[in-house]
Amino acid sequence: MTAIPIYNVMVLPHSYIYFQTQNFRSLAGNEVQQGDHILLLILKEETGRDQIRPDSFYPIAVEGSVTEINAEGYLVVRTGNRARVEEVHVDEEARITVRTSSLYDVDDLDREDSRKRLLEIKAELKELASRFRGGNVMQTMIDQYSTIQEVAAILSPWLSISNEERYAVLREDRLSVRFQMLEKIIYEYAEVTKVTTDAREQQQEDYQKVYREQALQKQIDYLQKELDEMHPEKVSDLRKLELKIGESGMNETARRECEKVLNRLKQEGMNGQEAGMLYDYLDFMTSLSWKKEEPKEIALDQAEKVLDEDHFGLKKVKERIIQQIAVMNLKKQQSGSILLFVGAPGTGKTSIGKSIAKALGRKYARVSLGGVRDEADIRGHRRTYIGAMAGRIMDGIQKAAVSNPVMVLDEVDKLSSSYNGDPASALLEVLDPEQNNSFTDHYMNVPYDLSDVLFICTANSVDTIPSPLLNRMELIQFQGYTPTEKFEIAKRHLLPKALSSVGLTEENVELTEDALRTIISDYTREGGVRGLKKRMDTLCRIAAVRSVRGQGEKIRVEKSELRDFLDMHPLNHREVKDEGKPGVVTGLAWTAVGGEILYVETLPTKGDGKITITGQLGDVMKESAQIAVSLVKSMFPDRISVFKENDIHIHVPDGSTPKDGPSAGITLTTAIASLVTGHAVTPRIAMTGEVSLEGDVNPIGGLPEKLMAAQRAGVRKVLLPKDNVDDLRDVPEEVREKLEIVPVETVEEVLKLTGIKSAAAAQA
Ligand code: ADP
Repeated sequence: MTAIPIYNVMVLPHSYIYFQTQNFRSLAGNEVQQGDHILLLILKEETGRDQIRPDSFYPIAVEGSVTEINAEGYLVVRTGNRARVEEVHVDEEARITVRTSSLYDVDDLDREDSRKRLLEIKAELKELASRFRGGNVMQTMIDQYSTIQEVAAILSPWLSISNEERYAVLREDRLSVRFQMLEKIIYEYAEVTKVTTDAREQQQEDYQKVYREQALQKQIDYLQKELDEMHPEKVSDLRKLELKIGESGMNETARRECEKVLNRLKQEGMNGQEAGMLYDYLDFMTSLSWKKEEPKEIALDQAEKVLDEDHFGLKKVKERIIQQIAVMNLKKQQSGSILLFVGAPGTGKTSIGKSIAKALGRKYARVSLGGVRDEADIRGHRRTYIGAMAGRIMDGIQKAAVSNPVMVLDEVDKLSSSYNGDPASALLEVLDPEQNNSFTDHYMNVPYDLSDVLFICTANSVDTIPSPLLNRMELIQFQGYTPTEKFEIAKRHLLPKALSSVGLTEENVELTEDALRTIISDYTREGGVRGLKKRMDTLCRIAAVRSVRGQGEKIRVEKSELRDFLDMHPLNHREVKDEGKPGVVTGLAWTAVGGEILYVETLPTKGDGKITITGQLGDVMKESAQIAVSLVKSMFPDRISVFKENDIHIHVPDGSTPKDGPSAGITLTTAIASLVTGHAVTPRIAMTGEVSLEGDVNPIGGLPEKLMAAQRAGVRKVLLPKDNVDDLRDVPEEVREKLEIVPVETVEEVLKLTGIKSAAAAQA
């Protein structure tokens, strides 16, 4: 009897085992023939033929005979009784000889019961087979099995049980227990198979459901559209939103986000707790314009005309805007460099932004950044916040209802940062052409393309604008208007507008030229025309009342009547005095609201040379004062006793606005020199310039504003740094004409021009 070692095959007595002939031969060797008696030895673990030893086997084996060696490549073994392995011998050529003894089953099976149970098992397996393709063949096969062993044997290749578990069945003597064990194994197999096929079926069903849903949805949409068209008045809010989302042309990400929110809204219903928030979101998103506008070719002449119509003067500004439009035409772009308009309030920065929009035929949006401290003001609040809103930029875009408005960002210098993030860095992203095509507002939570927006920023001063932001923009100065320009602006623009806003025309009211000039000189004090505009408005309101009372008679406003019409005192005009005093000198300052004259005052008090500085001065001005003192000490060694016996108090009355420091160097020096020499300098000489310890006069900024202020205040002569002579080009002709402008290089020259040096020399 040939002993054949086998592993991981369900070997049961009185049953069949099917092998692949190839596999069987490699186990048994070539000599096995049909009809041979064999002994199937069960290996404890998978072992190569040459490594087999006597103790590689379990002690119970099964006898059998090869009943069929099939041409299609399989081989059938009919098993018989079990046998106890008494002794195994393995020779050098790995031939196995075995001595066995007989082993008997304990036949305690209830035939009737087991027959019923087998029928049940078969029914279960047949049901399982029906789920597979070709299942009916299997069903017939199952019908033919008459014992549970046969059933288990045929399932053997699919059973996921271990070699040990299989052997445990074989080892069992009692038939009833063996039946139970097999029954359990088979049911387990059936369960596992069912679950996996169920899952597969479920998956298939899911797919089918999706396809069906899509098809149905299409039908519903179609029918709904027909219904909506028949009864437009009945279209529900939700339905309207749905339609709007569909028509908005929004990008894929935005559409998905909106659909998500819409579904939530549908689940919640319009009365749900969050419904308001969800509705507002969708309303916001659908009212944004998602359409890209085609760039339009702008006729430069036409644009120029529009700009001239709305604003008087501002020649340089208008030129720069025309250049920008030309570049946009050439590059077929809708935006270009970001312009930053800097100047005093009321110089037309914001309103010219509006005119630019008009000239370009585009929508205008204005976003005020004054006092913005929170990053969310720019970038929006996340929707998880109660009362969340979009940031100001997207809010402006939504109000403009186009994707390419001209957007004026007002007062960028008034941004400040706080613990709530840095709004300037958010703004940086808005203005960065590399990033702003996918600007993501926190509220929207999806990107929006800002690259077609033409941004214009305005500021009173560049000092407080963070430099990364400043670097991104191109600075254009608005210098403030001369009295003549103000006169023209009032006549051509402010007065006609003020009249029409109260329903009057120039037919009804006449403002004499003399009166207008007086308003400009005595009732306003500013670089821009905001105050002037207010005066015009007041005047027109009073005129309106008089006109109604006087039944339409033409009203003439004379200079003498201004007190009544404007109901205010003339502003005490800051005209310089005629007489000077030693130690007091007129300087010129630049402030955020335009130029101003200032007086540097000095006073000696008994002491030992301490310097006290008061007034609203920056640190830089304090340093300038120290330099001034040192310079005077070295230039007037014979007056050094003044410093030894006195403290010196330096004061710069601050007026209403803080002044920048560095341009007062020569003024401070002159004031102290005037003090120590006792020589008074006429207040009609004003000066501006920084000094070095060597006595050189260094250049300053804001010259046009300063000279305008000097001229307004009645200054005759202005000393300014030689290096600033180029800037005189920016100073209006009428201002230059009225001033004697003297460029200086050294403090020495300054002191000579003010008469101090020669007075001192004469005294000495
Ligand atoms: P800013 O933004 O510089 O503070 P605005 O643009 O608000 O100033 O201007 C204030 C008012 O003065 C506006 O009514 C504007 O139309 C008017 N205005 C300013 N400059 C001019 C000008 N050059 N021509 C006509 N009107 C002007």
